[in-house]
Amino acid sequence: MKIEIPTPDDWHVHLRDDAMLDAVVGYTARRFRYAMVMPNLAAPITSSTDAAAYRDRIVAAAPADAPDFRPVMTLYCSPLVDLDDLRRGVAEGVVKAVKYYPAGATTNSEAGGASMSDFLDLFETLAELDVRLLVHAESTDPAIDIFDREAAFIERELIPVSDRLPELGITLEHVSTRAGVAFVDERSQAAATVTPHHLAQERSDLLADGMRPDLYCKPVINSADDRDALIAAATSGRADFFLGTDSAPHPTTAKYGPKAKAGVFNAAYGLEVVAEVFHQAGALENLAAFTSTNGASVYDVEASTNSVTLERTEIDADVATTFTTKAGDEVVLFGADVATRWRVTND
Ligand SMILES: [Zn+2]
Repeated sequence: MKIEIPTPDDWHVHLRDDAMLDAVVGYTARRFRYAMVMPNLAAPITSSTDAAAYRDRIVAAAPADAPDFRPVMTLYCSPLVDLDDLRRGVAEGVVKAVKYYPAGATTNSEAGGASMSDFLDLFETLAELDVRLLVHAESTDPAIDIFDREAAFIERELIPVSDRLPELGITLEHVSTRAGVAFVDERSQAAATVTPHHLAQERSDLLADGMRPDLYCKPVINSADDRDALIAAATSGRADFFLGTDSAPHPTTAKYGPKAKAGVFNAAYGLEVVAEVFHQAGALENLAAFTSTNGASVYDVEASTNSVTLERTEIDADVATTFTTKAGDEVVLFGADVATRWRVTND
């Protein structure tokens, strides 16, 4: 079993900063071309100057043997974003998108919004500039069950804004439920990224046989029925679903404790995990659409003219299961069990 696809893009990734950036950027840079870099650093990226400086740090940290790598930057939707600066950042090619986080929903989201309706001016500007709004769709209402929070956010926050601004391009990030898929189904303005872990796992994997902190992420991995809806959408070849790994490294010291941090580090083997899902679904002919061409077309760039070859083997290869940063932090690599069966080569 062997398949060649255009070099994939990762339309949602957390590269962090400092020693963690140094340790993770090579995994993304050697595997992917475009990388849509999330702005939720400890001090969120809210200006084009911040974004340009962060891009420079990423490029400086990237390995020399990854010439195709193109980090593209996002601003963090907050009252600190100045609309003139946003226009300038877009015109200069520094800012590719803006990311909305509900305050408190996930890692470093404290600066996020209480409600999307507080940012209509900013969203109107995005629509006018033809720049997409990336949305972490998860209610933070403590009265809502954790597994119902994506659906609740879509109903209460996302649908009203989408109705009000039908010309605003919206990417529903890391879609995790059937309700999320339905939102994209119903609206031509919407598309969605899907992560390797939401495609490959369901909540019983997370909770049934010993709680697994390495699978804990936000939005939380949901039911088998939800996962099946994601697989159906992703493997169908349809143009509005594409890969965003949401690769998000946390040290084991933050993962294995009384309160695990949310995030899965899958930059290393996410492509293998996705290939295995498509293989199991009998849909490898649609893999390139999901990993390499749909997202490019949504973000108005050409698909890569370079390619990678994925080969499924019957021999289990030895693969790394962790890495350690220069600061001494150990991070677990998601998908190592699947990566033993796939060989990926850049052509
Ligand atoms: Zn994310």
